[in-house]
Amino acid sequence: HHQNPSEVLLTTHPHVLFFPLPLQGPVNCLLKLAEIFCLHRIQVTFLNTDYIHRRLLRYSDISTRFNRYGELFRFRTVSDGLREDSLRTSEQIGELLESMESSSLPVFREMVRSSVFRLGGGGAGGAAYDDDRDGNPISCIIADGAFGFAADVAGEFGVSIFYFDTISPCAQWAILNARRLKEGGDYPFKDDGMDAPVTSLPGMEGFLRRRDLPSFFRNSDQSDPIIQRLMSVESPMRRAHGLIFNSFVDLEGPTLSQLQTLTPKVYAIGPLHTHHKTRLSSDHHQNQESIGNSTNSLWKENKDCISWLDKQPAKSVIYVSIGSLAVMGNEQFMEIWHGIVNSGVRFLWVRRPGSVAGLGQENGESSEIHRDLELATKERGYIVSWAPQEEVLAHPAVGGFFTHSGWNSTLESIVEGVPMICWPYYADQQMNSRYVGEVWKVGLDMKDTCDRGIVEMMIREIMEDGKNEILGRVEDMAKLAKACVNKGGSSYHDLNRLVEDIKSTTP
Ligand code: UDP
Repeated sequence: HHQNPSEVLLTTHPHVLFFPLPLQGPVNCLLKLAEIFCLHRIQVTFLNTDYIHRRLLRYSDISTRFNRYGELFRFRTVSDGLREDSLRTSEQIGELLESMESSSLPVFREMVRSSVFRLGGGGAGGAAYDDDRDGNPISCIIADGAFGFAADVAGEFGVSIFYFDTISPCAQWAILNARRLKEGGDYPFKDDGMDAPVTSLPGMEGFLRRRDLPSFFRNSDQSDPIIQRLMSVESPMRRAHGLIFNSFVDLEGPTLSQLQTLTPKVYAIGPLHTHHKTRLSSDHHQNQESIGNSTNSLWKENKDCISWLDKQPAKSVIYVSIGSLAVMGNEQFMEIWHGIVNSGVRFLWVRRPGSVAGLGQENGESSEIHRDLELATKERGYIVSWAPQEEVLAHPAVGGFFTHSGWNSTLESIVEGVPMICWPYYADQQMNSRYVGEVWKVGLDMKDTCDRGIVEMMIREIMEDGKNEILGRVEDMAKLAKACVNKGGSSYHDLNRLVEDIKSTTP
């Protein structure tokens, strides 16, 4: 007998408040986890910023997809405090976090308060949450690791909190050790010290250079607000009930063990997108079509590129994308373009609006050269402004990924067994690309260079058949990534443990 989730009596169910960092990667991950929770009859309130929610309503299918969970799922929105027309790119992350602390935190706190005490009205935003008196009181918060304040709110109202860090565990471990890096002399460093080995990061001795640390550490100004933040992330994490990561034991076992020294409850439930698909397809109510096409995109996906891929030979195409936030300069853009064209390989390139700064500015190239590039692009390339990336990476025609090494992109590539060329931009990407190149050896790390010759050489190296050991390794890792979310696998087990632990925290 299968119960329809929306028919279930809510009073018997725990209620989790999700609060993601308002960026594509974290929102996507937390939506996927929220949907899995609904299948487990856990009630979810999902708190988005107005800005993100508007974009999701416009470009994703959330408005229809989440309807099927009835009263088990609802969205709420809050202002991020930034002006309507503010840019919300990586340069503004610091500003966004500051702004959310003054604008969103009071509303978030009021939501928890009024839900826990079943109060309506009064206080900031209180009136908007009148209906919270009818649902179950919030029993648990799942917040992005960037929101240290969420632990204070949880503590104040006696609800449990789990942090979900959607960046890589390896980078999170470095960030959590910011003080240790400083005490050990690894931070701060100057430009000429970038190649010195990192010696004070437990479990990561021997293969990290300072340039491989999360990009924040490149800022040697210790009074900078971002650096101050890094130095203080540890305390809220220690107070949390547990830490959730989008990774899996076969990929990051040693790092996950290190993280367990901070808090014993570490849940490695990734690759979340694979997990999500697996769990949804085993649910009786889901039809395969809707699972395959579900999207949490903040941009309009161009599906035509899939029909273009259908016409290309197996493993002949390199997919090029720098994610939702990274920006390249015009000069870098030209180096990459030359490198790709000179390699002679077919390519699918995501040129997200705004992702090339100063596009088309005079760069000393003659118009003839430019024409040659465009001609080659017409012959063997395809350009979109946003791609259905999971589907692209799963396509048999794709044989390589030129990536900025965002954590989601890295996992998506590993799951599909696609070798990477890493050109990290910021945050955890410097670390991810080092792991890809030196630890897992499933790609090549191009960090801190952007030269057409190197791009061309690396494309040839990962795309050429036969002598490609990288391909063998990434295919092996893909098998492990797929296995761990199935019954008996480590991520399957950790997700069930998380669900049980959340249920047991409900009063
Ligand atoms: N993505 C996409 N279409 C694109 C480019 C990216 O759907 O054309 C998705 C990609 O699948 C991934 C996310 O956007 O899930 C980017 O997250 P990631 O952590 O890789 O990088 P970020 O954008 O946070 O820098």
